[in-house]
Amino acid sequence: MIRRFLLYLSQAAWARSVTTRLAAARRVARRFVAGETLDEALEVTRKLNAKGLLVTLDYLGESVTSAEDARGVMEAYRWILERIASEKAQASVSLKLTHLGLDISEELCQTNLRHILSIAKERSIGVTIDMESTQYTDTTLRIYRTMRDEYGFDNVGTVIQAYLYRSENDMRDLAAEGAHIRLCKGAYLEPPTVAFPLKADVDANYVKLTRQYLSAPPAGTSSLADERPYLCIATHDEKMIQAAENIIKESKVSPARYEFQMLYGIRGARQEELAKQHKMRVYVPFGTAWYPYFMRRLAERPANLWFFARSFFAR
Ligand SMILES: Cc1cc2nc3c(=O)[nH]c(=O)nc-3n(C[C@H](O)[C@H](O)[C@H](O)COP(=O)(O)OP(=O)(O)OC[C@H]3O[C@@H](n4cnc5c(N)ncnc54)[C@H](O)[C@@H]3O)c2cc1C
Repeated sequence: MIRRFLLYLSQAAWARSVTTRLAAARRVARRFVAGETLDEALEVTRKLNAKGLLVTLDYLGESVTSAEDARGVMEAYRWILERIASEKAQASVSLKLTHLGLDISEELCQTNLRHILSIAKERSIGVTIDMESTQYTDTTLRIYRTMRDEYGFDNVGTVIQAYLYRSENDMRDLAAEGAHIRLCKGAYLEPPTVAFPLKADVDANYVKLTRQYLSAPPAGTSSLADERPYLCIATHDEKMIQAAENIIKESKVSPARYEFQMLYGIRGARQEELAKQHKMRVYVPFGTAWYPYFMRRLAERPANLWFFARSFFAR
């Protein structure tokens, strides 16, 4: 109930306008966001890299409605890639297609994405296309497949959400293709016609999809075939992490075939612990458009609301 209400608020313009003016909201958001500037995000990246953690940088924003703004986002990503390369940061990037203009036109979005991917490929930096609400699932997978065929399996990945009924079939196809996939539970408000309404079912599906993907036979015939399909196990849920670790151990899954991922600001100590045994990547968002991202984090864990409420009274 609270989750649904917070996810509704994450899309509501009036709530955005009220919340982003609150100093307390900005303070709490800083727990999940590395800062407003690229310099701040790179500073966080350096600290995480020094602890053995890899990073994926996300320039916050989504649902852009002007072609000029979408172009600005593309330029920002090109600059982020240049800085990652020049500073030799251990970082990939994550982006959202609606940030690159998908709501305006698919062609505009693809043009912007190609500009980003050509620099990323030149600099050998991975790009993950985040998954948004189900309105975009088919388009995102189609664009992912087009870009992956043009720029290479190792340069482009995308995301599958375990809360969707369709994900089992999607994962089966993507495994056979040898895709680079991040598996998460899913962060949007979806109806029971498309998504499991119960957390227990989402969790069971997460474990099932992890097993299915990690035990898929190597795809393709290139010299990199034994590194594909590749799975990013993106969760903070200890039960999911332990289930994945058991599957990795039992099936002797090669370290070249997977990594763990978590969000910046959540379970930092556990991130460091996992990094001692596995490849571990932290999703580091930055920028001024933090509102919807922040609300989705509150929705995932209503206990964060208490932290939010307390900070109203903090000096
Ligand atoms: C690297 C990464 C990338 C992601 N990319 C996408 C994407 O592209 N599309 C998409 O729909 N979703 C994405 N997500 C979000 C994801 O779908 C979930 O909403 C989110 O990860 C919470 O699910 P969980 O697996 O951590 O399990 P949950 O069952 O939600 O949480 C398990 C436990 O983790 C801890 N926890 C979880 N969330 C929080 C929080 N916000 N604050 C504090 N503690 C918390 C708590 O201890 C909680 O009990 C991403 C998540 C990660 C880690």
